[in-house]
Amino acid sequence: MKQIIRLLISGLLGALVLPVLDPGAMAAQEKVKVVSSLPNMGSIASAIAGDKVDLTVIASGTQDAHFVDPKPSYIVKLRKADLILVNGLDLEIGWIPPLTQGARTARLMPGGPGYIDCSTGIRVVEVPLSLSRTEGDVHPYGNPHYLTDPLNAEIVAGTITEALKRVDSASAQAYEEGRRAFVRQLHEALFGKELVNLAGGAKLSREAMAGTLDSFLDTTNIGGAPLRSHLGGWLGKMQAVKGKPVMTYHKDYSYFADRFGIRVVDYVEPKPGIQPSAKHLEDLVVRLKQGDITLLLTRPYVEHRSTDYLSERAGVKVLTLPIEVGGAPEATDYFRLFDYVTDQIVKALGGGAPAGGR
Ligand SMILES: [Zn+2]
Repeated sequence: MKQIIRLLISGLLGALVLPVLDPGAMAAQEKVKVVSSLPNMGSIASAIAGDKVDLTVIASGTQDAHFVDPKPSYIVKLRKADLILVNGLDLEIGWIPPLTQGARTARLMPGGPGYIDCSTGIRVVEVPLSLSRTEGDVHPYGNPHYLTDPLNAEIVAGTITEALKRVDSASAQAYEEGRRAFVRQLHEALFGKELVNLAGGAKLSREAMAGTLDSFLDTTNIGGAPLRSHLGGWLGKMQAVKGKPVMTYHKDYSYFADRFGIRVVDYVEPKPGIQPSAKHLEDLVVRLKQGDITLLLTRPYVEHRSTDYLSERAGVKVLTLPIEVGGAPEATDYFRLFDYVTDQIVKALGGGAPAGGR
């Protein structure tokens, strides 16, 4: 009994005295608690804020982002969170609403100050003329896989930085510096360091976003040579396979294809989220036998029966690649993800020889 009283007293004293004694030290130790639905956004937040955030990522990179199990343990995490980062465009429609509703925290509900929809400011492609989930289409607001284009990560980094500044204004400058360093690293990884030094990352990013990068590189001369001769990074590497046609399982490489100049000409799924019928597979065999498509890109979490069948019947090469950090052991962060994916695609498409001969 005495012990209990002593514990109660010390507990009360601790609660009363500690904040008074050293409020600054406590506040400094307090990290911003961020929950990210998916690993790519988590990786970007981590690159910007480093150890200023306590980060929890719900889905792993080996899970299908459309279909994740909303485990109740995440509700507990969410209740304590300052921010929740979501991909948006209804990608997480089946699993984020049950978690935010379970957490019953107003600031983390859609529209609340802690609910950060990272699709804000993204130029969404494949937006249907009318909203429809006909036959289970899982892309009712357009293609939600925008982080397969690294330049969209620049926009997402801006969104996340603004959110961090709002909840932790004391570190606003550190977040801004973190964002700038991330964007600089992103530009160098995408365009190559040499080209960024010559033309400036912001200029290159603007040209690429406007779809005018090619003409800018070809018509701008520096030291007697067009800027294109300085192109490096992921884009430089992917020049070898530019224009080549591929098939993908799901419609999740549209932004990637636009950025890197490969062409996605057909899909194993007849509609996003719908498995192929036998008839659809036969149509794909006929299509593949035309011979121009040599590569089929699929994901670790989708069924392999259809792709095995297509490989067997039509001889197409099947490559399983991640689109999220952690989807392959090599993809340890957002940069390593693109290092790995671009390496694999160039290798598989035989980028060494220019199209049309030796
Ligand atoms: Zn999808």
